[in-house]
Amino acid sequence: MPELAEVEYFRKRWDPGLGGVITGLQLHAQKRIFRETDVRALKRRLVRQKLLHSEARGKQMLLQFGDGNWLGIHLGMSGQLRLESAGFCAGKHDHLVLEQEERALVLRDARQFGRVRFHHGAEAPEWWQVSSPEINSKPWTKAALTKFLQRHARAPIKAVLLLQSGFPGIGNWMADEILWRAHLAPRTPAGKITAKKIAALWRSTRFVARAALETIGHDSTDPPRTWLLHERWKAGGTCPRHETVLARATIGGRTTAWCPQCQK
Ligand SMILES: [Zn+2]
Repeated sequence: MPELAEVEYFRKRWDPGLGGVITGLQLHAQKRIFRETDVRALKRRLVRQKLLHSEARGKQMLLQFGDGNWLGIHLGMSGQLRLESAGFCAGKHDHLVLEQEERALVLRDARQFGRVRFHHGAEAPEWWQVSSPEINSKPWTKAALTKFLQRHARAPIKAVLLLQSGFPGIGNWMADEILWRAHLAPRTPAGKITAKKIAALWRSTRFVARAALETIGHDSTDPPRTWLLHERWKAGGTCPRHETVLARATIGGRTTAWCPQCQK
């Protein structure tokens, strides 16, 4: 599932279309990806409007068009944005194509766990305005993190890191990377983490989010070789700090890898 850095990467694929007018639309109106969308309003209002702005927050993105038209995109498990040349004809899984004079902006989602939401109004849609603060934003403070951990005191920290209401855009591999850097065992109950460790968790969460955006989110390059990410799926993968073999278990419903020596 795309995490914040992958979402940012795909958001930027459509950047050449910024400032361009939508000249036509192709969409598969019956598909599940449009289940929360007024497709008729989308079709009627979007054509002849300029694409003005786009922004990613966690796993979601919002595109602003002229005359108070907005498109929310969640990539789900398999959603991808790409560019095609003008005159492109949508393939089976290309459920939304925004045509412009010089190019086509294509949303592909083979498995359709993603969704497209249309909104018309002067302000951004409410679901966007109430979304949780970004990890690298000012409101995402140590105090806010501490409160969030207390609200989920009995849950293992790994499961809590996957809650989008507290950690927007963090998915499975990022959560493992963060815990490894903070020297926290994934099964530690969130309410049992000391203030010192909360500070380490806060720092490592911000570090991983920022560094992932600067590599994967920037041009899809891999984070440095010293990251746990490169070892976590390898058979016999070891801790990048030394030679201890990583442990694996299902925690919070997801396969979790950690170093039994660093994360006691
Ligand atoms: Zn280790």
